[in-house]
Amino acid sequence: MTQDIKPRRKDLRLKPTLPQHLLPDPTTLNVLQLSEQHCALCGRRLFRDRYLGTVAYKEHGKTIKADLWGCAPSCAPSVQA
Ligand SMILES: [Zn+2]
Repeated sequence: MTQDIKPRRKDLRLKPTLPQHLLPDPTTLNVLQLSEQHCALCGRRLFRDRYLGTVAYKEHGKTIKADLWGCAPSCAPSVQA
């Protein structure tokens, strides 16, 4: 993957629901979590989701930004980090 993941909901001006320092380390996330398909916190498939925030990471020397999404209103207690 050498191109940016498109921040498709950026135009909605959503506010992050997690402070930046609580966002997960993007290097620990899989491609499904970085592409808004699975929860960035627990890894489950997203059905109802909330915008967590945007992270940036380096891949092949390029800086890539990814919008992170999580379960709404929160992850299931048994799997919450
Ligand atoms: Zn979750």
